[in-house]
Amino acid sequence: MSSRRHPSGLKACRECKYLNPSSASTCESCGSSKFADLWEGLVVIYDVDGSAAAVSVGAKKPGKYALKLY
Ligand SMILES: [Zn+2]
Repeated sequence: MSSRRHPSGLKACRECKYLNPSSASTCESCGSSKFADLWEGLVVIYDVDGSAAAVSVGAKKPGKYALKLY
């Protein structure tokens, strides 16, 4: 339902939770084509090496990640 769509226009990859532009056809991080339009929480990862936040979301690439997918 569009009323619950995240206002940012980003969609979350179902494989790695990386947040991609709504226009993306494949995930910029892992190449998956499965996305969730409904997601919650946002973590910005600046450095994937030695970052506790990166480890906790399983980030392989700096960028924005969703915490919870629907
Ligand atoms: Zn991905």
